[in-house]
Amino acid sequence: MSEEKQVKPWKVQPQICKKCGSHKGVIRKYGLQICRRCFKESAEKIGFRKYD
Ligand SMILES: [Zn+2]
Repeated sequence: MSEEKQVKPWKVQPQICKKCGSHKGVIRKYGLQICRRCFKESAEKIGFRKYD
């Protein structure tokens, strides 16, 4: 038997919140990658203005 290098089953990494590490309801809008909770937090922090 040859030892083959097994490919990790998780090729695609799940969306994980950059702030809290949660993978629940992660939003990838606006170049962010944070969960809804942190998003709301950040939204208030940055004022959630319309960035272009
Ligand atoms: Zn979060």
